[in-house]
This record gives sequence, structure tokens and C-alpha cells, in this order.
Amino acid sequence: MPDASQHISSNPNALSTVDQMLADGVLAHQLRPLAKAITLIESRREDHRARARRLVETLLPHTGKAMRVGISGVPGVGKSTFIEALGLYLIEQGKRVAVLAVDPSSSLTGGSILGDKTRMELLSQNPAAFIRPSPSAGSLGGVAEKTREVMLACEAAGFDVLIVETVGVGQSETAVAGMSDIFCLLQLPNAGDDLQAIKKGIMELADLIAINKADLDPVAARAARAQILSALHMLRPASPNWTVPVLTLSARQKEGVAEFWAAVMKYRETMTASGEFAARRRHQATAWMWELIDAGLRQRFREHPRVQRELSRFTREVALGMSTASTAALKLLGYLNE
Ligand code: GDP
Repeated sequence: MPDASQHISSNPNALSTVDQMLADGVLAHQLRPLAKAITLIESRREDHRARARRLVETLLPHTGKAMRVGISGVPGVGKSTFIEALGLYLIEQGKRVAVLAVDPSSSLTGGSILGDKTRMELLSQNPAAFIRPSPSAGSLGGVAEKTREVMLACEAAGFDVLIVETVGVGQSETAVAGMSDIFCLLQLPNAGDDLQAIKKGIMELADLIAINKADLDPVAARAARAQILSALHMLRPASPNWTVPVLTLSARQKEGVAEFWAAVMKYRETMTASGEFAARRRHQATAWMWELIDAGLRQRFREHPRVQRELSRFTREVALGMSTASTAALKLLGYLNE
């Protein structure tokens, strides 16, 4: 007797009735279905992955309208204080705001230093806001992949602004810059930090820099601003049409928040006019596809029975100088054709 599962197998893109209801709820801008959809997206179970893929595929035509804002900075710089101030400001302007996190520490420890509910208390209680902590399982690559899909779900659920937060350590910044329209770096009014950021190449990713805690020492904040501006002069601009602005603000006093958002809007306007806004998204989408292809090939390689049997022998031979790396790699890759 024909049943729903047969129907799905004959049409790989069809949603089950339950998932269609989930999709309808998300598209009706309801938060509970959105939360459920995200739980499905974040699941590592293979059958859930397949359902999540179909779900995101269904939502895809309804995505792309939000402004995607990446925000980074070292722990303690004031990210959550600032995001709460910015979120509340945007909600006052009639916008709906989703806050997501890419947290490299959560994939290592299972705990999260970003995005937990006790932070941003006022924002998390606001019905126009949706705050989702970083998924705690998997590698940074896995967490970043899920965050991209969660962003799409939030866009389908009608959020106008997506804020993706990450800490100023490691590769998570590159990942967040690769999924946002504008990448913003929060800095402390302290020269040492600025030099560090330059060294780590983070400043090259920034489209906008804001020096927080200017209330503590306005003179130091202005000095830091001058220093960062001169450091930026030495970098090659990512776009000939955009000079990275360096703002000062106080997240705690809610000063500079409107100016920050005005700079984000100016960026969007400028990049849209030059065609770079759409080009960046196109580039991100294809880069994402290649990341998934690379990850899929790597997984297929590692799971291949003959590779599994012989990998340790080849590894040993290469380590001991009994075989060259290139010969070993060629032979192992050759097993994929068997
Ligand atoms: P995060 O780790 O980057 O998310 O930083 P938090 O938002 O948790 O802030 C770290 C500490 O700095 C908290 O005690 C905040 O109250 C404080 N803080 C945040 N922004 C400001 C600011 O603009 N001025 C001052 N004086 N303190 C701030």
C-alpha cells in the first residue's frame, strides 16, 4: 500500500506532512516552528540531516532579504552588551532581530562562552528578538555550516537583521566574515590589542571597526582610533569603493549605536550601488558549496574500507621515510576508484 515514506523516496525533495507544517510555521513567522526547525538543522542524526536539507531547500526561495551582520572581538570587549543595545535600537526602529553565534570553544568543550540566555537579558525577552546559542557539537566547520543554514531559516521566518557573533580567536572570524554581508570588529581603547588584531590578519577582514568602552577613557579611545586609522592605511582596501570607518562607542551607555547602524546602512547602500553586495553573496554561496564538497570527499575517503585498512601502514611508511608522501597519497586516493 502506498504510504508517505514511499512518496518521499520517489520524490527526494518532498517534505513529510510534519516537516511541511514546520516549513509553513516558519514562513508564517512563528517562533516555535523556527526553534524546532533549527533543532532539526543542528541535529547530527543522518535521517535528521536529510530532513533538514529538504526543509532548508523548501525555505530557500524565501531567504536573502535580511542584513547579515558579523560581529567579532576578544572576550570582554563588550559584544553581548553591544548586541543587546543594537538589537533593542533596531527593534525600536520596527525591525525583527535574530542573534546567532559561532563559538569555537563550544565545539571543543561542549560549553558555550557565547550566546547563552543569561546574556542579553532584555533582548532575549523581547518578542521581536530571537537569540540562539551556538550549536555545541562538531568541529568549527560543522558549527559554521549549521549556522549558515540557521541563518537561512531565520530569514525565511522574516527577520530583518541577523547578527552573527563570534569571539576574536582563531578561524571562527574567517568563517563569520564568510557568511555575513558586513564584518564588524569591536576593539578596546588599548593600543596593544590593535596591534594584535593586525598581526592576526583580522583587521583585513573588517568592513567596520568600533572602539567600545569609550566612556571609560575618551582620550584613549580617540588615540586608539587614530592609531587604527593609520594602521588601516597600510592595508590594501578590500573594495575600492569603501573606506573602513573607525567609530567610538559605549555599549553600556548606549552611545554611538545609531551611528554604528548608520554606517552599516551606508555600507549596504555603497556596496549595492557598486554591485559588490550581491557579488559577495554569490561568492559566499559558491565557496560554501566547495567547502561542503571538500568535506564530503574527505569523509568519503576516510570511510572507504580499503583506505581504512591501509591508512595506518601508509602513514607509518611515510613517517619513517620508506615511502614518499606523494606516492602514498596517490595510492590511497586511487582506492576511491575501486
Ligand atoms: P563580551 O565578552 O565581548 O560579550 O563582553 P560583555 O558584553 O560581556 O562585556 C564585558 C564587560 O564589559 C561587562 O562587565 C560589561 O558591563 C562591560 N562593558 C561592556 N560595554 C561597555 C562599555 O561601553 N563601557 C564600559 N565601561 N563597560 C562596558
